[in-house]
Amino acid sequence: MEMLQNIAELEKFSPRRLANETKAQKFVERKLTECGVDFELQGFRNSIPEARKARLTVDGEDVLCMSTSFKSGIIEEKNLISSLAVSGRYYEEPNINFNPYADGFSLATFYRAPSLAIRRRDMQKVMNAETVRGEVVVSRKAHVCANIIAGNARSPKAVAICHYDSVLGGALDNSSGTAVLLELCRKGFWKDNMIVFSGCEELSFDTPIYWGKGYKELENDYKKELIKARRLLVVDMVGSSPPTTISDGNIKLAAFPVKDGRIFRKASIVSMSGNEWRRIYHSSEDVVANMDIRCLEATVKFVSAAMVGREHLPRAKRCNHLLGLRFRDAGIQPGEGARVGGLRQ
Ligand SMILES: [Zn+2]
Repeated sequence: MEMLQNIAELEKFSPRRLANETKAQKFVERKLTECGVDFELQGFRNSIPEARKARLTVDGEDVLCMSTSFKSGIIEEKNLISSLAVSGRYYEEPNINFNPYADGFSLATFYRAPSLAIRRRDMQKVMNAETVRGEVVVSRKAHVCANIIAGNARSPKAVAICHYDSVLGGALDNSSGTAVLLELCRKGFWKDNMIVFSGCEELSFDTPIYWGKGYKELENDYKKELIKARRLLVVDMVGSSPPTTISDGNIKLAAFPVKDGRIFRKASIVSMSGNEWRRIYHSSEDVVANMDIRCLEATVKFVSAAMVGREHLPRAKRCNHLLGLRFRDAGIQPGEGARVGGLRQ
């Protein structure tokens, strides 16, 4: 039950960005101290977009919206897109986006063009409108974040990594992984292994890949250890259905965009096996109530067996995650994110 409690505690700081992210960081540090776990901090600088204004007027009437832009500007075209299955050109074109599976706001993707997220219930209204006008004002907010490196940071046998920041609610993405890794620490797995709680995974102004900032920083300073470790597991979005590993290169790039091919190839993504994430992805509906303690416990078992290498990791045969598809379309090649040939064409 401790895992559910930790997820509920982290929810109090959501959305875990900027000052709230620091609160989540302190929470994780406190939990590690309580269990007598050794850890060190890797501080780094990041900046993320903060919306000052987000307004959408449809035939003279305001429609509720949220910003998904890195850039301020005006939206005059009725360029309505799904934020889950996007094409690369959308990154640079002003748009109004929605998640077709979610009832609430789902800030699934951020764009380098003025863009606003609406709820799917308002999609029809926008589609039928004569005139559409959006305005978004974004500022760049600097922040000092940290990766918390617990356990054996010098010669780890295995490495397990999660992120504790969030776009909005962030129970599944990724308090779930954070709770699983805290549980592994409580069980003593930190002594031989490196357990990483990463900050600023969700947003940065990096191009072409704006996510995974904390992972890229980890790679910079702990490259040798990551290359030497026998196994590397990235635990992200678990505990709402049974755990599995994902081997699809596109999804690996979505979950762990590091540059070094040796590290990228070694990494296994541990995630949930179902598609229930789509309904709550990057939304305020991503709350602890969606989590299932049996699936969280199964994930702890799964990850701990993988870390000691007793188990051949089962893999998702056919994965319906749409997220990965965007990279191929976006023209993001392995050389830019991960210097490997893992991407399926
Ligand atoms: Zn995540």
